[in-house]
Amino acid sequence: KEPTDINALADEYLRLSYHGLRAKDRDFNADFTTNFDAQVGKIDVVPQDIGRVLLNVYNNAFFAVFEKMKRSDKTFKPLVSVTTKRVADKVEITIKDNGIGIPQKVVDKIFQPFFTTKPTGQGTGLGLSLSYDIVKTHSGEITVESTEGDGTTFIITIPTT
Ligand code: ADP
Ligand code: MG
Repeated sequence: KEPTDINALADEYLRLSYHGLRAKDRDFNADFTTNFDAQVGKIDVVPQDIGRVLLNVYNNAFFAVFEKMKRSDKTFKPLVSVTTKRVADKVEITIKDNGIGIPQKVVDKIFQPFFTTKPTGQGTGLGLSLSYDIVKTHSGEITVESTEGDGTTFIITIPTT
C-alpha cells in the first residue's frame, strides 16, 4: 500500500474507462460528471488494485447507460456521475448511472464469480467478484442499489486508517 490521492485515481480511471470504451466502439458515447471532496486527500491503498475496482465499476456503468441508449429515443441522456466524500475515518466513492439497472432477482448474484448477463465474449462475470475481494482486502465495503430500467449506484467505502 502507498499514500494515494483517491480523487486523482478516481478521475484517472474514469477517463481510462471512457476512452477505452470509445476506442473499442465508435458509437459509444455518454456524459460523465465528477464531484470530488477536497477533504478526501491521500489514503493508504494499493493504487493499481483500487484502480482495477474503479475501472470495473466504471466499465459496467458505461455499458449500462450505452445499452439503455440503444433502447431509448433521442431524449435519453446517458450519464455516469462520480462523487467522493470524506466521512469520519472513511472515504466513500459513489458511482451512479442512469442505465438499464439490475433486476431485483439477480442483484444478489452480481458479486459472484462468473455471474454475467452480458452476451458471450462481452463479459466474463469476474469484474465485480474481483472488485469485492480487493475492497475486502482493504477492509472496505462495496454495496449496490439498483432499480431495473432506471439505473444503478455503487458505493465503495475505504477506511482511512
Ligand atoms: P461482467 O461485466 O463481465 O458481466 P461483472 O462482475 O463486472 O461482470 O458484473 C456482473 C453483472 O452485474 C453484469 O453482467 C450485469 O448484469 C450486472 N451489473 C454490474 N454493474 C451494473 C450496472 N452499473 N448496471 C447494470 N447492471 C450491472
Ligand atoms: Mg464488468
